[in-house]
Amino acid sequence: MHKVSSLSVSTLLRLRMMGVVRRPNSLHLYAIRVCWCTAVEPKLETMQTEGDSRDSWISQTLIRLSASSFRAGFVLSAHDRAYARSKGRATIERHARELLRGRVGDAWPAKDGRQTPFRGHPVFTAQHATATCCRGCIEKWHHIPRGTELSDEQLDRLVDLVMAWIEGDLASHPA
Ligand SMILES: [Zn+2]
Repeated sequence: MHKVSSLSVSTLLRLRMMGVVRRPNSLHLYAIRVCWCTAVEPKLETMQTEGDSRDSWISQTLIRLSASSFRAGFVLSAHDRAYARSKGRATIERHARELLRGRVGDAWPAKDGRQTPFRGHPVFTAQHATATCCRGCIEKWHHIPRGTELSDEQLDRLVDLVMAWIEGDLASHPA
């Protein structure tokens, strides 16, 4: 990983104005300048998840993600919160499944590592926060190898994780 020695004030302001990063740090700037995500984090320890129930896998994973200053920096914008509330859980979950299947579901998705915008839909921001943004992050954080299509069960788990993160953001920012 490159060191980002000096932070550009205008870039910091831009990130803040995007409304999706609470306290931008050098990792966010690096992700925006070089790639979206894969190269910015230190190596992670693997974690056994087999045998865990789905709920416990989600809560354990959210705890692991909260320890990453990069992942934990993401928040939904006010617009995305209003959008998520107006559409309701079932619709956002359907969007999440469609977006994840379309963008990270294939064995080798197009533009992998750059296919997920930071903003524009609550699911996009949630994908960066939950490391479900590209197959590199999914492999690194969730131990699903690149090069194979995501199974329905794998997709379900990642969608559950995205939805849990969105619900957590909404719960901590009441309307
Ligand atoms: Zn990624």
